[in-house]
Amino acid sequence: MWEAGEGFVVEFSDRILACRDCGKPFTWTAGEQTFYAEKSLMNEPARCPECRAARKARLGLEPPRVMHTIVCAECGQETTVPFVPRNGRPVLCSSCFTKAKAAGMDVRAVALAD
Ligand SMILES: [Zn+2]
Ligand SMILES: [Zn+2]
Repeated sequence: MWEAGEGFVVEFSDRILACRDCGKPFTWTAGEQTFYAEKSLMNEPARCPECRAARKARLGLEPPRVMHTIVCAECGQETTVPFVPRNGRPVLCSSCFTKAKAAGMDVRAVALAD
């Protein structure tokens, strides 16, 4: 924590930085600087918010969910799940999962389908 009386006082004011990617100037606000200081982030942001968002998208930090078709081990109904079922693991549709849970089955042993 930054505290007055410990030998230094830090005051933040808006700063203009140049984006590393597009070269456009962008504002690093006092509020963001406070946030960086609180998180102990030493580096200034190198990119403007637009380039940061574009970079994040390029890096694929949020890949689309790939759906796999499975057959419910309980009722035989076809459904899709957002993961690859493990070998030998029964997969239940959501209604069977709810029923199994209500019946006190160890539902951790089965995979839940959406
Ligand atoms: Zn930029
Ligand atoms: Zn089912």
